[in-house]
Amino acid sequence: MITVKITTVLLIYLTSILFSLFGVWLFTHLRQRKKTLLPPLYELAICEYCRYNYLVESDKPVNKCPQCNALNKDNKYKNNLKDESNR
Ligand SMILES: [Zn+2]
Repeated sequence: MITVKITTVLLIYLTSILFSLFGVWLFTHLRQRKKTLLPPLYELAICEYCRYNYLVESDKPVNKCPQCNALNKDNKYKNNLKDESNR
């Protein structure tokens, strides 16, 4: 029969807890880092009222013109590009 000291068992137990905590930390750290490395997608928008060109996040349906503060519903420039590519 193998005899194991209580200190050895305690050492193995604490080491396994430490490694599992390190694994959880590493997993969350890498996940967080991947999120911050991906920048939001921007696309060019032209204001319907003052024709000012600016960049907006592509997932927002309504954007605000930085020059005249008017709300623009959709990206007209993108729609025009699609129409021109179909011709
Ligand atoms: Zn504007």
